[in-house]
Amino acid sequence: MKAELPAVTLPGGRQVPALGLGTWHMGESRASAAQEAASLRAGLDLGMTVIDTAEMYADGGAETVVGDAIRGRRDEVFLVSKVLPHNASRAGTIAACEASLERLGTDHIDLYLLHWRGRYPLADTVEAFERLKAEGKIGAWGVSNFDEADMKELLGVAEPARPMANQVLYNLARRGIEYDLLRWSQVQGIPIMAYSPLDEGRLIGHPVLDEIGRIHNAGGAQIALAFLLTKAGVIAIPKSGSPERVRENFKASEIRLTSEDLRLLDEAFPPPTRKRPLEMI
Ligand code: NDP
Repeated sequence: MKAELPAVTLPGGRQVPALGLGTWHMGESRASAAQEAASLRAGLDLGMTVIDTAEMYADGGAETVVGDAIRGRRDEVFLVSKVLPHNASRAGTIAACEASLERLGTDHIDLYLLHWRGRYPLADTVEAFERLKAEGKIGAWGVSNFDEADMKELLGVAEPARPMANQVLYNLARRGIEYDLLRWSQVQGIPIMAYSPLDEGRLIGHPVLDEIGRIHNAGGAQIALAFLLTKAGVIAIPKSGSPERVRENFKASEIRLTSEDLRLLDEAFPPPTRKRPLEMI
């Protein structure tokens, strides 16, 4: 039987699993594309139905891999993609979205994000997002790499529309958002999508994670993900091109970290004690 993944409630009430699937670096080589699509399908089989991609990844190649992976099972997926800032003008956003839809082989993206802030006024991008929404090409829109001040500005510009999520760098080694943005987002009811939840793989092999992992009969990656799953309103999107590691990552949802585990994690990865500018990759 499929274990239940913890869920996050999106603005509007829809629930999505708190553990999804990243796709950065997928689609870069034809040789590994089939295995990457198989990894995404392995995640879907387990209920990891949030798939995060972007027009930027492999110049659209990752979206093509996602399109292959979800063929015939589009309805299971909560599909997230992103527009590059240099495309995020009023007309450019529409064109970029349509090109993404083509590569993804679908008629709608569930959540469409501005990848990071660029030179176009936020109002122009939001206007295009709202048009895409009205046309049914996207279900909702959001942003990525926005710090608290950017979010406040965005809310002012977009009102009465609101972003559905903010995707930012968040993992044990990068806990800066715990000082302010995380709490602010929780109060606002705007979910955080935690990207690079394994710090791009750098957390693998960390002795404290391995030590806690031994207690839970788990690996360090699972402990790093289990930590993020303790945070309300956070969706972690680890990437793996291996079905076996996707299954390993899924099992993070079965781990219940104790207060002693969390104390050890705080000691090894101290939470922030002052404001740090939002880090990004
Ligand atoms: P992650 O923190 O998810 O780490 C991915 C790396 O960890 C890969 O090298 C992967 O290798 C390895 N890995 C995954 N699972 C395991 C495991 N169980 N054991 C050992 N190694 C493992 O990094 P990403 O930067 O990919 O972040 C996740 C996703 O977030 C991206 O794919 C992308 O969708 C999104 N993102 C968004 C950004 C933004 O600006 N909005 C920026 C960066 C990422 P392998 O594939 O070989 O398993």
